[in-house]
Amino acid sequence: MRVIDAEALAGIPAEDEALRAPVRAFLAEALGAVPAGVRVQSWSGYDAGFSRALAARGWLGLTLPREYGGAGRSAFARFVVNEELLNAGAPVFAHWIADRQSGPLILKYGTEAQKHFYLPRICRGEAFFCIGMSEPGSGSDLASVRTRATRAEGGGWRLNGRKIWTTNAHRSHYMIALVRTSGAPEDRHEGLSQLIVDLSLPGVTIRPIQDLQGDRHFCEVFFDDVPLDESALIGQEGSGWAQVVAELAFERSGPERIYSSLVLADEWLSFVRAQELPSQRSMLLAGRFAAHLATLRAMSLAVTAKLVRGESPVVEAALVKDLGTEFEQWIPAAIADALDEDPDAVLPAELLKCLAYVTHLSPSFSIRGGTREVLRGMIARGLGLR
Ligand SMILES: Cc1cc2nc3c(=O)[nH]c(=O)nc-3n(C[C@H](O)[C@H](O)[C@H](O)COP(=O)(O)OP(=O)(O)OC[C@H]3O[C@@H](n4cnc5c(N)ncnc54)[C@H](O)[C@@H]3O)c2cc1C
Repeated sequence: MRVIDAEALAGIPAEDEALRAPVRAFLAEALGAVPAGVRVQSWSGYDAGFSRALAARGWLGLTLPREYGGAGRSAFARFVVNEELLNAGAPVFAHWIADRQSGPLILKYGTEAQKHFYLPRICRGEAFFCIGMSEPGSGSDLASVRTRATRAEGGGWRLNGRKIWTTNAHRSHYMIALVRTSGAPEDRHEGLSQLIVDLSLPGVTIRPIQDLQGDRHFCEVFFDDVPLDESALIGQEGSGWAQVVAELAFERSGPERIYSSLVLADEWLSFVRAQELPSQRSMLLAGRFAAHLATLRAMSLAVTAKLVRGESPVVEAALVKDLGTEFEQWIPAAIADALDEDPDAVLPAELLKCLAYVTHLSPSFSIRGGTREVLRGMIARGLGLR
């Protein structure tokens, strides 16, 4: 039994809940032999072949309309599939951003030609995307981006500038970049636009950055007079800020902002269960994990319900991400504390690998996708407190 199984999984329409069994069966077969120390990477695990295997079963682009290659299902169906993928520690990183936010963004703001070009390839697991928002000096203060696209003679654009911390840029086909198309950085929200940049174009240089653990997940991306077609513009010229804010609701509300440490929690639970007499403290902690998870999951589902109704729950998504990442960070710290109880215990190697990995990674949970302080500022504004 895993932490997630401790609660009755309720609140999801039956036809969407029905997806859970086939996804579990597929994952048991696909990941059965993969050790927890690998699965712990969860949504940071990259495997393009695995993404295509999911696509072949119709589990990518679940919410995209059938005419564009999607399954035409609700956000609840996507929630169920992702919940199972994350709990199993499936390597979902290759398609994650395309499926979560680039596809829905293109569906919402794209032209018919853009939808027909990109969406079927996203659904087949053939087009992977990255997010080009942050720049050196423009992270939390996103409106100050300096990367600029200027009109080229004869049509199209020329792109110059630099992005940073771009997850998977070196393994993606496209970036959706927030850039300035008019005015100056002081103009803030005015004059920003979103462009789809083909990362194989001349003038694009991608340099992976090594993180604390020696992994190379994110990159610096340089644009040196990159030629872009007119069709690179997504949505309205000058409406980039409003579009990016709507995109962040997709980015922040999902179960991946709650479940990043669950493979570790499950490894620890197996260890506790194997004890002849688990300590009071361990049993209390296991109960707390399950209780926190149940509450956060209910909140994430409530945001999903808003997405299903076509709303843009920006503040609610920020709240789920803030509380969810706090939970994800608490798990490794609490488990390390609990293991301290018996310094002589012989710990399973996979549990130690999971604990070391999540402990190193966890500070990034409350930075990626918007920092804790910035989210709390948004929540306070949303509540009318500032
Ligand atoms: C693992 C990881 C993956 C990432 N992937 C991507 C990606 O794919 N694409 C992308 O575009 N970006 C990505 N980022 C970048 C991320 O979005 C930024 O790091 C983040 O928004 C913070 O920006 P910054 O690093 O410039 O820090 P800063 O904005 O300089 O912030 C520094 C500190 O000051 C605080 N601070 C800033 N402004 C305020 C304020 N107004 N009030 C209170 N406190 C404030 C912040 O909370 C933070 O603690 C990723 C980051 C990480 C860690």
